Parts: sequence; C-alpha cells; structure tokens
Amino acid sequence: MDIGIIGSGAAGLTAAVYARRAGLDAAVFERGIYGGQIAITNEVENYPAVERITGAELAMQLYQQAKALGAEIVQTEITSIEKKASGFLLTCGSGSYEAKTVIFAGGAKRRALGCPGEEEFSGRGVSYCATCDGAFFKGKPVAVIGGGNTALEDALYLSKLCDAVHVIHRRDTFRGEKRLLDSVVSRPNVMLRTNRVVREIIGNDQVTGLFLRKTEEAGEEFLPISGVFVAIGYEPDNGILSGLAATDAAGYILAGEDCLTSCPGLFAAGDCRAKPLRQIVTAAADGAVAAFQAGQYLTQLPTSF
Ligand SMILES: Cc1cc2nc3c(=O)[nH]c(=O)nc-3n(C[C@H](O)[C@H](O)[C@H](O)COP(=O)(O)OP(=O)(O)OC[C@H]3O[C@@H](n4cnc5c(N)ncnc54)[C@H](O)[C@@H]3O)c2cc1C
Repeated sequence: MDIGIIGSGAAGLTAAVYARRAGLDAAVFERGIYGGQIAITNEVENYPAVERITGAELAMQLYQQAKALGAEIVQTEITSIEKKASGFLLTCGSGSYEAKTVIFAGGAKRRALGCPGEEEFSGRGVSYCATCDGAFFKGKPVAVIGGGNTALEDALYLSKLCDAVHVIHRRDTFRGEKRLLDSVVSRPNVMLRTNRVVREIIGNDQVTGLFLRKTEEAGEEFLPISGVFVAIGYEPDNGILSGLAATDAAGYILAGEDCLTSCPGLFAAGDCRAKPLRQIVTAAADGAVAAFQAGQYLTQLPTSF
C-alpha cells in the first residue's frame, strides 16, 4: 500500500480522506474505538462550522467519510514498525503489512488522577479539557486539579466562564510560570487550595463534589462543585517509534509543519507530535498535511518501489 495510517482519530481519518482523494492506496489501523478521543467526548462546540455535535456523531461522520472514499480500516493494534529498504513493515497480531510511507497518528494518553469516582463521572462532570468542556459549566463552581502551566491556564480560562474556580494542588508551591500564577491570583473568583489531594469524586447523575485530603496536616474537607478539570498532564504513547523517530524530552514526536519526522517516509500527525495546541481541528489539519506530504514523498521514490 502507499500509506499505512496508524490511529483512527481526527488526524488518522483526515489523513485517510486526503490520501484517498489524491488517489493513494491507504489503510487505517485502529486498536480501540474508531474516532479516538473524539468518540469519548460528550459534545464538541469548537469544530469550525459545526455549532454543536456529539463526539460519537462526529467520530461516525469522519469514519463514514473515510470509508466512502475507499479507505480500508482495519481493527488491529500495530505492535511494531520496521524501516525496510522498500518502505515500512507494520506488524500486528494477525500478520504484517507493507507500506511505502507511514503516518503515525496514535494520539496521546491522558494522565488520570486514579481516585474513586473519576472513571465513573468521566464525561458527567469530570473533564480533561477545559477549552473543550468549560462552556458546559458556565456560571457554576468548578475545581481544577494540578499545579503546572496546564492547570493555571485552565483556571484562567474557566475564571471567565465559571462562578468559582478552586485550584487543588498537592504542594504549596506551583510548578507553573510565575506570570501565569500572578494572573490566576489576581482573579477574584479563583481560590487556591494548596496542600490538598482529591480523595474521592462524588455525585449522582453528575458530579456534586469532591472530598479533599490535606497533605500537611490531618483532616479532610468537602468541596461542593459541578465540574472537575483534571490538568495533571497528558503523556505521549509513542513507544512504538522508539529508535525510529526523534522525540522531545517529554516523548512527543518531533516533526515540523510538514509533519515529517526524523525518519524519511514516516510522518507524525495529531496529538502524538510536539505542538502547542492539541485539539480536533489541529489534529485534522496535521492529518491533511501529513497525507499531502506523504503523497509528495511517494512521487520522489524510484518507480520500482
Ligand atoms: C474528554 C475529551 C474531550 C475533548 N473535547 C474536545 C473538544 O471539544 N474540542 C476539541 O477540539 N478537542 C477536544 N479534545 C481533544 C481532541 O479530542 C484531541 O486533540 C484530538 O481528537 C486528537 O486526535 P488524534 O487523531 O491526534 O488522536 P486520538 O484521537 O487520540 O486518536 C489516536 C488513535 O490511535 C489509536 N492507536 C494508537 N496507537 C495505536 C497502535 N499502535 N495501533 C493501532 N491504533 C493505535 C488509538 O487507539 C486512538 O484511537 C478532547 C479530548 C478529550 C479526551
């Protein structure tokens, strides 16, 4: 095949759409849910020209579009990627596939708190993306968990929408930049609750509150809130590319605006690559660019390939 695409999120499926429209032979490999993170998103309100859509519906539309254009979509996990003289060998449980180029669109793993109630209320008050879900908590009290830049940026963003924003941090000093912390402290509706960790998230249909455990003294407190934004970071899941493509210190794949990695013929698209904003629109844009660049790369290969 011309392009082997690993991952069927916004990046992978958009790459398939662009590849097929360019007349390229493309297959998408997916180990989990078609649509990736979109499929686990309650509602999306910030995809251009789409006022509001459920994640499941958007994922289905992307999937159907790629299928209708003739992309092969294979339900399997790619367990290794090997560079060969003629391209790449992709191995999965049932065998292997040869591809002249590869677009890795494997996304990123969110870091979870791991406390009781977190999984149960995910999408029902527990969110991992303030930019995405903040608007659903307009005028309500919320908590942001974390002490780095993401948590501080989330707190600032939410302070413009929500009644009260409680920032819960396990230490008494913040890892985030001072400039950000100063802005957060200046907001009258943001409360810093340091030396506290979340013991449990509770609710009925939706989240109603948090039990916090103090880290420096004995004791617990209950915080009534409607939303919990977990901002303890995302982590890359790019182990499969180890030794093949360069990454940054955090493990995200280094690729330029052309989505080309340090390995010729191997492109990275979406949340898996080092970038400032991880959203559906940026993942889709990467998918389009990666497919276009993979097409350009193919035209430069000797015809015997
Ligand atoms: C709860 C939540 C809500 C969000 N809300 C919004 C929102 O409202 N608006 C917005 O713009 N963004 C939102 N985001 C962020 C957005 O969804 C992501 O930035 C975007 O979808 C990432 O797309 P992606 O294709 O890069 O990766 P992903 O969607 O993570 O897809 C990667 C896919 O690759 C598959 N995969 C990985 N490795 C392999 C392998 N070895 N073999 C086979 N398959 C593999 C995974 O199973 C996964 O399906 C939200 C994210 C979350 C978690």
